[in-house]
Amino acid sequence: MAEGEETAAWQLRMKWQESGVCGPELYRYLAEQVPRIFCTSEKTGLSEEEEEMVGTSLLRPLEWYLFGEDPQLGLEKLQQGSGSSQLCGRVFKEGETTYTCRDCAIDPTCVLCMDCFQSSVHRNHRYKMHSSSGGGFCDCGDMEAWKTGPSCKKHEPGAGGDMDMGAESQLEDGLMERGRMLFQVLFKYTVDMLVWEEGQELPAELQPSVKEDTYYCVLYNDEHHSYDHVIYTLQRSVHCGLGEAQTHTNLIDKEGRRAVKRGTLQACQEAKQAIQSNSEHISLQPLRVEILHSAVMAHQSFALRLGTWFQQVVNYSVGFRQVFCQVSLQAALDPELHCLISRLMLCDAKLYKGARKIVHDLIVCSLLMETEYKRLFAIEFAKNYKQLQEDFINDDHERSISVTALSVQIFTVPTLARQLIEEGNVVKVIIDTVMEMLSEHLDDSNRFHFQGFNSERFFRIQVVFHDLKYILISKPTIWTERLRQQFMEGFRAFLGMLKCMQGMEEVKRQFGQHIEVEPEWEAGFSIQIQLRHTLSMFQDWCTADEELLLQGYKECYNTLMSCTNQPFKSEEIDTHMCNHVLRCKPYKVSQDPVSIHLPISRLLAGLYVHLCRSGAINRLHEYLPAGCDIAYMVEYPLRCLVLAAQVAAEMWRRNGLSLVSQVYYYQDVKCRDEMFDKDIIMLQIAASKMDPNHFMMLILQRFELFEYFNRNTVSRDKELAKQLNRLTEEMLHLLIIILGERYIPGISNVTKEDVIMREVIHLLCIESMAHSSLVKALPDNENNETGLENVIQKVATFKKPGVSGHGVYELKKECLKEFNPFFYHYSKSQHSKAEDAQKKRRKLENSDKALPPPDPPRFFPAFANIVNVLNCDVLIHVLRTVLRRAVETSGKLWTEAMIQRVLHLIGQGLLEEKQQLEANGEEVAFDFSLKARRIEHGKSLLTFLEKLKLVPPLEAQKDMIIWTLQMFEIVKCLREKSSPTAAMSIETIKPEESIQDKEKAERKRKAEAAKRHRQKIMAQMSAMQKNFIESHKMLYESTPQAQGPGEPSVPEDSSSAMTLGESRVALGPKRGSGVVERETLTCILCQEEQEVRADSTAMVLTACVQRSAVLTQCRGKVLPNTETFVPLFMHPDLACGTHTGSCGHVMHAPCWQKYFEAVQNTTRNRLHAELIFDLENGEYLCPLCKSLCNTVIPLIPLQPLKLNYDNAELVGQLLTFPRWLEIVLARIKGLKAMSQDNDDSHEMAENPFFAENPADFRSILSFGVQATARYSESINEMLVVCATAAYRVGLKVEPNETDPRVPLMSWNTCAFTIQAIENMLEEEGKPLFGSLQNRQHAGLKALVQFAAAQRLTSSQAVVQKHFTHLLSALIPDLNVDGTSSILDVDLFHLLVGLVLAIPALYQEEAVDLQPSPISSAYNHLYILQLVTMAHVVQILLTSDDPPGMLGEEEGEEYRSATELYQTLVQCTEGLSGDVPGWCLTDRVRRGVAQFLRCAGLFFSCLTGIPSPEVLSSNEVSLEGHLEALCSYLALPTNLFQLFQDHKDTVTPLLHRWCGNPAVSTALTDRSSVIRYPRKRNKLVELPADYSCLLNQACHFRCPRSADDERKHPTLCLFCGAMLCSNSICCQETVEREVVGACAAHSVNCGAGVGMFLRIRECEVVLMGSKTRGCVYPAPYLDDYGETDPQLRRGNPLHLSPERYKKLYQLWQQHCIMEEIARSLEVVSIMFAFDWQML
Ligand SMILES: [Zn+2]
Ligand SMILES: [Zn+2]
Ligand SMILES: [Zn+2]
Ligand SMILES: [Zn+2]
Ligand SMILES: [Zn+2]
Ligand SMILES: [Zn+2]
Ligand SMILES: [Zn+2]
Repeated sequence: MAEGEETAAWQLRMKWQESGVCGPELYRYLAEQVPRIFCTSEKTGLSEEEEEMVGTSLLRPLEWYLFGEDPQLGLEKLQQGSGSSQLCGRVFKEGETTYTCRDCAIDPTCVLCMDCFQSSVHRNHRYKMHSSSGGGFCDCGDMEAWKTGPSCKKHEPGAGGDMDMGAESQLEDGLMERGRMLFQVLFKYTVDMLVWEEGQELPAELQPSVKEDTYYCVLYNDEHHSYDHVIYTLQRSVHCGLGEAQTHTNLIDKEGRRAVKRGTLQACQEAKQAIQSNSEHISLQPLRVEILHSAVMAHQSFALRLGTWFQQVVNYSVGFRQVFCQVSLQAALDPELHCLISRLMLCDAKLYKGARKIVHDLIVCSLLMETEYKRLFAIEFAKNYKQLQEDFINDDHERSISVTALSVQIFTVPTLARQLIEEGNVVKVIIDTVMEMLSEHLDDSNRFHFQGFNSERFFRIQVVFHDLKYILISKPTIWTERLRQQFMEGFRAFLGMLKCMQGMEEVKRQFGQHIEVEPEWEAGFSIQIQLRHTLSMFQDWCTADEELLLQGYKECYNTLMSCTNQPFKSEEIDTHMCNHVLRCKPYKVSQDPVSIHLPISRLLAGLYVHLCRSGAINRLHEYLPAGCDIAYMVEYPLRCLVLAAQVAAEMWRRNGLSLVSQVYYYQDVKCRDEMFDKDIIMLQIAASKMDPNHFMMLILQRFELFEYFNRNTVSRDKELAKQLNRLTEEMLHLLIIILGERYIPGISNVTKEDVIMREVIHLLCIESMAHSSLVKALPDNENNETGLENVIQKVATFKKPGVSGHGVYELKKECLKEFNPFFYHYSKSQHSKAEDAQKKRRKLENSDKALPPPDPPRFFPAFANIVNVLNCDVLIHVLRTVLRRAVETSGKLWTEAMIQRVLHLIGQGLLEEKQQLEANGEEVAFDFSLKARRIEHGKSLLTFLEKLKLVPPLEAQKDMIIWTLQMFEIVKCLREKSSPTAAMSIETIKPEESIQDKEKAERKRKAEAAKRHRQKIMAQMSAMQKNFIESHKMLYESTPQAQGPGEPSVPEDSSSAMTLGESRVALGPKRGSGVVERETLTCILCQEEQEVRADSTAMVLTACVQRSAVLTQCRGKVLPNTETFVPLFMHPDLACGTHTGSCGHVMHAPCWQKYFEAVQNTTRNRLHAELIFDLENGEYLCPLCKSLCNTVIPLIPLQPLKLNYDNAELVGQLLTFPRWLEIVLARIKGLKAMSQDNDDSHEMAENPFFAENPADFRSILSFGVQATARYSESINEMLVVCATAAYRVGLKVEPNETDPRVPLMSWNTCAFTIQAIENMLEEEGKPLFGSLQNRQHAGLKALVQFAAAQRLTSSQAVVQKHFTHLLSALIPDLNVDGTSSILDVDLFHLLVGLVLAIPALYQEEAVDLQPSPISSAYNHLYILQLVTMAHVVQILLTSDDPPGMLGEEEGEEYRSATELYQTLVQCTEGLSGDVPGWCLTDRVRRGVAQFLRCAGLFFSCLTGIPSPEVLSSNEVSLEGHLEALCSYLALPTNLFQLFQDHKDTVTPLLHRWCGNPAVSTALTDRSSVIRYPRKRNKLVELPADYSCLLNQACHFRCPRSADDERKHPTLCLFCGAMLCSNSICCQETVEREVVGACAAHSVNCGAGVGMFLRIRECEVVLMGSKTRGCVYPAPYLDDYGETDPQLRRGNPLHLSPERYKKLYQLWQQHCIMEEIARSLEVVSIMFAFDWQML
């Protein structure tokens, strides 16, 4: 800032200070200055200069005034004196990761920001991670939010200097006074301007001296119009271009409003008209447009700027913050007016987005950071609550940008909540608010009725229910009398609301016709779901003390009694059954209206249980002296249960889906604890209080089964009979539940933990389950906790997941006895699944299949009478009737399900009697067994039961029947002991027992017979299976040689005598001959067999060629332009190779061609088929295994290689290494001379190898030739297809089969594929031979044979030229331009090229010749020796030693090594001498291994000669391995020996190799030199804890943009680069296409494929060829062995090394493309995801 300006600022502040009351002075200044700076030009939004002007002319003087000195100085002083806040208060952006602690957070709304979390104790607790929806803030430092560890290290008290809460004294008096003065004026100005609604006038005190005729036309954001609407409207109305319209629209969406036109009033009015009419035209609703005078606009802009300024200032010091809070809460002078902050709150809904955000942020960083002011603010907030909610509901913005969203910050604070209830009765306020909003839905009888509700509005109303939940979330520990009163008042209000729900939305059964319109039911249920936790929390609050509970119960009871909205239609009548009389009012669920909503009845049931639990039940009579009307209490819940039963019995079919859904939710885990469960409790209450016979009769009445059981009437109507049966089943089930379900604290003596345990046991009885499935199936509490973790270890064992799938919990054996097949929370399907599973299990254990009721816990005294229902006449009658019908009638009148339930009930009765007998010994009044034996009409219940065994359709229940009979015996014995006289006649039992024994023996015999039978069948089956596999082996394996005798891995031939012909040497005169097996293969398409022959139709192997960077030593290297690049030499960094893989499936070439054409034709018509495979690039899916392929490899039979060893020996004497080199060079020279007219023999003459004894041009032929192999047309055609594919894909060029680079690419892909396979085998620690999968081995062999045969389809001249060029790398001066340094050549690629090209040298003009086997053997031998020597030199030049190695200076090998090295030192510049021999040997041994192993694989595939057995074994030492490999390759184990043997020939070569200046250059900059062994690539190391990654992501900044938009940090797993994916900012143009950061990165990093971890989403993305990709589970699992895509569950995640390894293998084995193709095939995507934009 310039000196002059600073002085001006200083002067200004002096002026203000002198004027004392600065208000009017300041206003005058602002009135004058603001319009001069803001809104002076056409452009809206502040330019940089304007921003600076704001600083110098407006803010700077204010700060000068505030500090009374240079603000810089003042600020420094201030910061010395005070600490920063101990609350973090960081406001979350949308998408930011937040953490909460399940162990310590008071409720799940308490969250930490990433930084605080990482330095808090909760890191090691059971935390959860979530993605913020924006707007909340970090609760670090809030003592009330956390049970332990409220502060992170940074915000710990004392961490940042001491701070006295509430002490303003830390500001010196003057500063504070000035601050107060300034804030008062400025904040009032800010509020005035933000809430100012006059567009064209200003407040009097801001009136400008001159009013210009400049206006703005301002367009506001709404949620009604789409982006496109707005853009279109703007283009039409204000005539701006598309780009400008887009910018406007973006900013309108972001900020909430934007000036779209500046001009005279008239011009703006015209624009406004145009916008409104245009927008109305397209969407029926006009856009909101206002015209603002430029001065108004200016002041509003500055007010907003001040908002941000305040945020800064209050962060300067606590003192300022407190002063600001005081100012904002200060009561206005006019009592009619609100304080400033309330004024802002109350206009919140009128403000536009941008303004709201600033206001909210200001509130958060000031008022909510100070405990005392937070309290005052909370009271203001509560005062305005109703108004705020109403505004919000009429507003159309999202909740997160409404001031009402702050409620969570206030209501969840326990002390605040208590005070708000105590002082502001906030519970009542909230309920009154919601009632007022819902009042329009009340019908005549004061019940809600949501027919035709406005769902959008309704959705907003529900937000108020959240507040109700928040306010109740922490139950107070201290209760004052006032709190008690206020709470009760709130509770009464709540009951008032429930009263409107009681009986709402009645349904009536539809007769005849199906309903026409499905009634709305979602609204009612969504309120129920919203209230679920609130209901249980109200109950919980009531239990705070006995008084409150009793009072609450009384209120609830009275409310229920005052509900008169479901009246009976008729008067009471008497009914009779078993000599009992019931007097009740008739009512039929099937005819009269019935409602599923009974919150008051259910609340009452809930409170009743609490009464029992606390013992307060004994004092109930003091509160409700009149007793209670049980029949009335139970009536409605019973109706509801009957409704559910009738729906299950399909009696309500005509009422449509809405009713089915309601009944479903009624019992679903989301609702049941406050619906179905409470209804059951109410029935249990009734059963405990009513006369049991009356209770039973009432049930029968309501189930409309009274007549059915009272008279023996049989309906002829089949439909009706079925209904009655279903109803009976349902009723019996209900009785089982009422009598047996006691797992509720208060009903019996169980803990909450017991309850959860029982739920979990029953879930696991269905099947073993994943943690997340269990969580979903359990009810959660208001803190979203299910309590699962506390119990799961006790009842289940965890089974870890494999590399896919997820971990599951398996029920412990000892818990199985708890299983109750009629568990009341089972759905119909769960019930039958569980029953099946348990029966199956018991069968496997060879035990009987009875599933008897488990031992139930004892009822609490208040409920103890329930058991009398079991013992009552009416129930015995019902049971008897069912059994009698089963025994006496056939079908129709009974079902197996009925019998099952009856047996269960009898079992319950017997268990009860047994328990009582065991406990009391004597005088047990409960006499179920005696009643069951009582004979009526000649037969007892027991007699029917015995006969039941003989009813054939009940075979499946036999075990259960037997169990029941045994129970009768046990109970009888117990009774006899206690009172022998009560025993029944013994004789009836004896035969019974013997029958049982016989029964048992019989069953055992049968079981054994069945077992034998099963075993026999199993044996047959497995034999058949074997045969099938044998005969269809091709289908399973489809390898060319499934374990043929020629397979190297088969050790059989070792048994025969070891002759030379079987020697395991692959080259040279001692070469073995290999086994030429005839191969007969089956085509997977036509299923016909064919032998692989050179002269018949080609058989082809599916194959996929792809570029690969898996071996690169230089990741991310920019790959050469492939249009012109000649891939003669592979650089040793292997930056990009060409890999050819195969799934190993074989077809006839014509079959494949037909298939391929068909695929092309059909997929062209398929939607998005191009996503799955790229037709243009010849891609298709393997017809059998659906692997991605893009070419085929023709199968070429091996040529016989029989050597005449005598001849070979002879030839060897003549054809020494130097001689061989001579004749080869002579041949090259000759060929060159023939092809070129110009004679360059003089140049050749300079070559030392031509100096003496020049060999003849044709002498090469004299060592043996033969005619070249001939292949059928078909094979030749396929050779071209395959070679072209390697060329096209490897070089990314258009196919051109005549390009001279075609053969090079064939050899290169052969070499690279071998290297990749060698790398993989080594990485996995597998032996070199015999451990490849069949498909890999088949593919590799075919590939090598193809590469060898490919030569024949190319021009021999081209191949000869390539050979010359390749050889020039080793024999320099072959008259080839720019020979490369040997450090720049990958010698294995060179070896393959030389070996496969050399036969071309034998070509004689018109005669097709190739070397004889003997010639080949020597060619291979000498080429390998030459290349190996070059490689040894490479290694010696480049390698380093591992430190700390020791060795001794002994032996021949060391000597020769030292000798060679000395030679190298002599001829190389920059190579340091004096390296011990053992060290050199070690370097070479380690360095050469990769090369030799590759060579071994190559020659083995080329010649088919079996390798030494040790190479197929894992248990071999490194030395042993090398030795065997050398012997197979006919190399001396001591490789230095080669240099000795060929000293004369090699020494000049050494000089040339090392003398190349490139070598010295490379040696000086050793960093770029490739060392041997090459390093093996790994995926980047990932942290064990996922939150570390999230932390990284949090600190990630997009390299290209600075805006605060949410970014998607994405980690490249190959190189560790963090990219900004899926974002416009980081798009790049690759090959004239715009692609996202990941797609662009993978071009060079992974040669087209990529593997990325999307960090926020916790998902791996596989990418291939820019346009394709798929998601793959991240290798992170939670403690339950489950992945968590999108972090939906938010459990802590840990790296799974196994899964990460699987990803690694996917990459190394080149299966990424395949995986993508497979996933796309599985998920037939309906929409195309734009992978390239990632
Ligand atoms: Zn924080
Ligand atoms: Zn913190
Ligand atoms: Zn914790
Ligand atoms: Zn075929
Ligand atoms: Zn396949
Ligand atoms: Zn990368
Ligand atoms: Zn970016």
